[in-house]
Amino acid sequence: KLATRLGVSRNTVVRAYAELESEGFIAGRMGSGRRVEALPPAPLLTRVNWNSQSSYNHLASSPSHMAELLSITDAYPDTINFAHGDGGKHTLSSSCFPDYVKAAAEKVQSYFFTAVHGLPLLREQLVEWMGMEQISSPEQVCVTSGSQEGLYLITSILAKPGDCIVTEMPTYFGSLQLFASLGIQIIPVPLDQDGMRMDVLEGILARSHPRFIYTVPTFHNPTGRTLSFVRRKQLLALSERYGIPIVEDDAYRHLHLDAEPPSPLNSMDQSGHVIYLNTFSKILFPGLRTGWIAGNQQFIQLITRLKELSISTNTLGQIALASFLKNGELAPHLATARNLYREQAQLMESQLAPLRSLGIQYEKAAGGLYFWIALPEELNPRELMHTCMKSGVSFTCGDMFLVREAEQPYIRLCYTHEGAERIEQGMSILTHVLRKQKEA
Ligand code: PMP
Repeated sequence: KLATRLGVSRNTVVRAYAELESEGFIAGRMGSGRRVEALPPAPLLTRVNWNSQSSYNHLASSPSHMAELLSITDAYPDTINFAHGDGGKHTLSSSCFPDYVKAAAEKVQSYFFTAVHGLPLLREQLVEWMGMEQISSPEQVCVTSGSQEGLYLITSILAKPGDCIVTEMPTYFGSLQLFASLGIQIIPVPLDQDGMRMDVLEGILARSHPRFIYTVPTFHNPTGRTLSFVRRKQLLALSERYGIPIVEDDAYRHLHLDAEPPSPLNSMDQSGHVIYLNTFSKILFPGLRTGWIAGNQQFIQLITRLKELSISTNTLGQIALASFLKNGELAPHLATARNLYREQAQLMESQLAPLRSLGIQYEKAAGGLYFWIALPEELNPRELMHTCMKSGVSFTCGDMFLVREAEQPYIRLCYTHEGAERIEQGMSILTHVLRKQKEA
């Protein structure tokens, strides 16, 4: 009847009725007639489900390694910390940087905004410090809140959920967590003594089109290995042949214990394919939360547009850093730090060496901050870590640096966060627990 009255087909009325019913607009009981209500019955309370509301649907279920690691010092303030990757308190006490922070705090401009891509004076100083022909202008630099933010910005610009990227395996867990959280697939490439395996990479590039190659080519985290000069050339040639950008994360370049490492990929690059990423976290302090991206100016402009959404990096730290660099303080600071780190690495190694008889394997440290240690197969790194934590020592489990389970269990020990005395203490506790678990 309704269809005739409205002059439409019966099917249209049936479909409209079904739609109204599914949205709760139809009221009434069978037999007593049904009518269309003005509004669907209002629920008393609809709770927001924050997990399904989130557009990052992996976040709630993926492991939060970063948060776990960063909370160690709050949860266990006295722990002997071989987990965090930084220079620790003794580096702070041997540096004049705190004086620069005090001086910056007295400058009125420290309390106000600076440019989105960073304080001009700091960007000028960074261009000079990097000394690369390819980075000749401060407009090719964007200062970031640590290189982690830098990698976040780069990844967001270059890749979208479902895309893939290529990287060394194992690699820095913060990058793996970042890629996974953004829904980016990771194609792993193994390393050998000379760094990322170019034969494997070439095979991957020939059959898939990753958005970029993320690499820590110098004193790689966690293995400490360095991409040889020959492989650097091969990597650049592959990037050119397949038109794939390289993201070079160079956080550990200046922390060599012996010979200087080969030049950055960025300084060897003729094609403009390399995006360079670095940080003050390893050469000064992670609490500064200051890093930088350098590269093609057009790309830096895109990065800056995205960075603008969170305004800029803190001005106070940038002012302190700019004058620290301008006064030439970074090079002597690094020379002192390297001498200290060399002693600390030797000390830790002297306590690791006797453990070889238990089947543990590691490489001599050449630079960076870590020993990457293969444990005998029967040992479980998580069990080892929990027992060590109870006895006052923390370190990082190898599985955090991998996308799949390794054939062998690993742990990572940082030799720079603690001073000599606590390294000795911590290593005797670790040795004791390791021996006990091996015998059990
Ligand atoms: N890249 C690598 C290779 C790292 O090891 C780290 C810190 N562990 C970072 C980036 C992050 O550094 P930042 O503190 O500058 O965010």
